[in-house]
Amino acid sequence: MSKLIKGGTVISPTGPGPADVLINGETIAALYAPGRGPEDIETIDATGKYVIPGGIDAHTHMQLPFGGTEASDTFDTGTRAAAIGGTTTIIDFAVQRTGEVVQDSLAAWHAKAAGNCHIDYAFHQILGGIDDESLKAMDQLVNDEGISSFKLFMAYPGVFYSDDGQILRAMQKARTNGSMIMMHAENGPAIDVLVKQALERGETDPIFHGLTRPQELEAEATSRAIWLAAVAADCPLYIVHLSASKALEQVKAARDLGRNVFAETCPQYLYLTLEDQLGAPGFEGAKWVCSTPLRSKHESHRADLWQGLRTNDLSVVSTDHCPFCMKDQKEMGLGDFSKIPNGIGSVEHRVDLLYQGVVDGKLSLARWVETIATTPARMFGLYPKKGVIAPGSDADIVLYDPNGRTRIGVATHHMNMDYSAWEGWEVAGRVDTVLSRGEVISAGGEYSGHAGHGRFVRRGLSDYLI
Ligand SMILES: [Zn+2]
Repeated sequence: MSKLIKGGTVISPTGPGPADVLINGETIAALYAPGRGPEDIETIDATGKYVIPGGIDAHTHMQLPFGGTEASDTFDTGTRAAAIGGTTTIIDFAVQRTGEVVQDSLAAWHAKAAGNCHIDYAFHQILGGIDDESLKAMDQLVNDEGISSFKLFMAYPGVFYSDDGQILRAMQKARTNGSMIMMHAENGPAIDVLVKQALERGETDPIFHGLTRPQELEAEATSRAIWLAAVAADCPLYIVHLSASKALEQVKAARDLGRNVFAETCPQYLYLTLEDQLGAPGFEGAKWVCSTPLRSKHESHRADLWQGLRTNDLSVVSTDHCPFCMKDQKEMGLGDFSKIPNGIGSVEHRVDLLYQGVVDGKLSLARWVETIATTPARMFGLYPKKGVIAPGSDADIVLYDPNGRTRIGVATHHMNMDYSAWEGWEVAGRVDTVLSRGEVISAGGEYSGHAGHGRFVRRGLSDYLI
């Protein structure tokens, strides 16, 4: 049951170095100076490869019901695609809608995922109805269910939306039980006004999805969330899918004050734009309708986000994987952009897309591993079981070939989508071999994992809190 990963360069949060990695069963047993490990055991040759902790995607939505349809990846297809792309843990979201019992919604998500996942998985809990009962449920989830983060929405009135009073109450509760509040920070009521006005003017194309969600309304909500968290005795706050320079400024200012404020961004905001993708001719732009929206290439968003990743004002890169097919799903918004289901699918490509940032000189190797694996593990109470190559940690390991190349497209991807948001993109680097808890599940393009291998992981509290 032992194996040795030999000859590779292990990337740890402090940087790269040559080491051989001994795996015993499901966990990492030891790291050795090259050639000093045990002999006569099974070896995996990692010569010329980077050996990195398996990716952790802290923001996915498999099978999410949204706008009258459901995200097209199941826990089976989505976690298989994730695994092939070098991600060995996802944190998905159980969803409580207004009027539903929190624990019932969590049970429903367990039922969707159990036995279907190819890699380990955990849950955040979405709270769509803050009241006395759901506040009590927060304690129960933290104490008994291994769920230590709760997502609220300042957008989507009538669906997931919480008002400021509800947000404050949830933050106060989180401050007392040590959990993290995750925030979808966009001013939903103001956006709804702009959407209505645009449709009245006959502006129905996908690009108006972006134009009716200006960055000011992301920045305003981000700032409001930050100050509400301050009132809740500096409740830990994590801004999801941050897309815009002005929102990043708010996070930066809070962090400069020493506040418990964190943020993630996603590959789509680092590379894609309002004009080139969302503004594609005809209905094509629907492929890139997601919220927060893609931002203008004529402003400095992408450069600012890369810089934020480097300086740790952005701590994590997640995908917000929420795929919908064009046929029958995105098409629901033909003639009315507001009916296009919101979401992009990238769970398979995050590790590669961020490695391109290393090649482009925007991130160090260590920072690449931090933003895709180590920090999400620490942020959400999975560390040191996940997110690091160290004795005692789960043997979730990726051998990454820096000399390979990855071409992305619908013909070759494994996500259950009838298009790729990254069609034709070719990036440097390639996922070579993937191990999940010591088992090789993908090697040299051959997939050998199976649904049911992945287990639910109970999470502790965030490492970043004192
Ligand atoms: Zn999301």
